Amino acid sequence: MQWTVRLETTTSAGEVKTTELVTFSRPAVVSTLAEIGLVLDETKALLAKLQASMLCGQVAEHAAHHRVCAACGVLQPLEDRRTRRLQTLFGTVEVEAPRFKVCRCCQSTPTAEAATFSPVCALVTARCKPELERVQAELGARTSFRDAARILDTLLPASPARHESVRNRTHAVALRIEADDRQAAAEVVAVRNEPNKAAAAAEHRPVVMLDGAYIRALPGHQVRNFEAVCGKVEHEGHPARRFALVRSVADQLHALLRVALLDQGWREGDAVTAISDGDPALPALVRSATGGPVEPILDWFHLSMRVHHVEQVMRGLCALEPPLAPLGRARVDVERLRHLLWNGHHDKACEALGRITSEAKDAIMPNNPTFEAKARRLVARCTELRAYVENNEGTLIDYGQRYRAGKPISTSRAEGTVNQLVNARMNKRRQMRWSPRGAHRVLQVRAALLDGRFGHQPIQLAA
Ligand SMILES: [Zn+2]
Repeated sequence: MQWTVRLETTTSAGEVKTTELVTFSRPAVVSTLAEIGLVLDETKALLAKLQASMLCGQVAEHAAHHRVCAACGVLQPLEDRRTRRLQTLFGTVEVEAPRFKVCRCCQSTPTAEAATFSPVCALVTARCKPELERVQAELGARTSFRDAARILDTLLPASPARHESVRNRTHAVALRIEADDRQAAAEVVAVRNEPNKAAAAAEHRPVVMLDGAYIRALPGHQVRNFEAVCGKVEHEGHPARRFALVRSVADQLHALLRVALLDQGWREGDAVTAISDGDPALPALVRSATGGPVEPILDWFHLSMRVHHVEQVMRGLCALEPPLAPLGRARVDVERLRHLLWNGHHDKACEALGRITSEAKDAIMPNNPTFEAKARRLVARCTELRAYVENNEGTLIDYGQRYRAGKPISTSRAEGTVNQLVNARMNKRRQMRWSPRGAHRVLQVRAALLDGRFGHQPIQLAA
């Protein structure tokens, strides 16, 4: 059996042309399932032929249309014929790009050498179609450049199917996203002058959740790991917006955060809440991006983890045989810690930590080695927690009250962002090493993909 695929083209002038694209043939009697229907290689060949026919036809008509002088209607003389190569999702196509002499009626000085123009070159301004670049960047942001190139090569006649090409296109798209962000961030936004609105804004201010993630650096870089700052901006009535940056290479890193805030309805002068772990650089970043008031809040999750460590050591001590009387008071204090910190009584929490530490130190001397090791660990954990609380004093709040008001108290959602943005693409399990610049650019595309800012449709990013 045989099939012939013919393409019927009707030009704008009404002329009909038929081109034979491909012929498929199969034996009269098939013996396996694989022999029935289209196969991938045939489909790729068909798509490539179809693309070449369509593209060349369209470009030829475009050139013919522009050859006619708009002023006098005369065909402009042909100067020479050139070709341009255009990469598409459906193969690389060589198109004719004729150059024409500009019509005499349009020349200011008829004696001068005629100027030329090429309507096809004016149209084909890049080496690839935007669609190919978009798909390469999307795949490159989702998975390794090599895998992305393999996927494209497996399914489509797209060319070139090399990982360098995927990487370069991903970087090119990232640079454009960043440039757009910078431009949007630089736009002057009218300051809000209505007091009622300002009061409402104070009540529902945007929340920036920040967290850091470490990425393994390529050999040859000064550091083994470098940090990427990931975050999410949430504001009532707006879809959350993610951002990510590698501080050392981000060009105007404030712009990235600023544009995320502007996108969320934030306006110059509005206060912002920043939730982060104890790293003072993170709220400072928000402050420099907004240039306005920032309410920093220490992330409850990071605080709670440290309380958990104290509780754990205490539980270990209590489980020892025989039961220990001397730590009776310390035990009560440890049980109160979480409650005290949750309700904003960090002074009382520090006092309690002081009591636990001294009681544990007193108890160390007369006891057995197992007990001693655990008691020392308790002292260490308590000292750690106390230092953490004292260092972050200005950012501790009444978490209970804020939680009951339905406001975020933790960066756990930012941590989800870290997982989605960084870990799923760059973590150690994948054995990948990155240059700070490369990581920064891939993160721009991934953030845009996750938010649905990339292309038009919101896209769910697979881990
Ligand atoms: Zn003319």
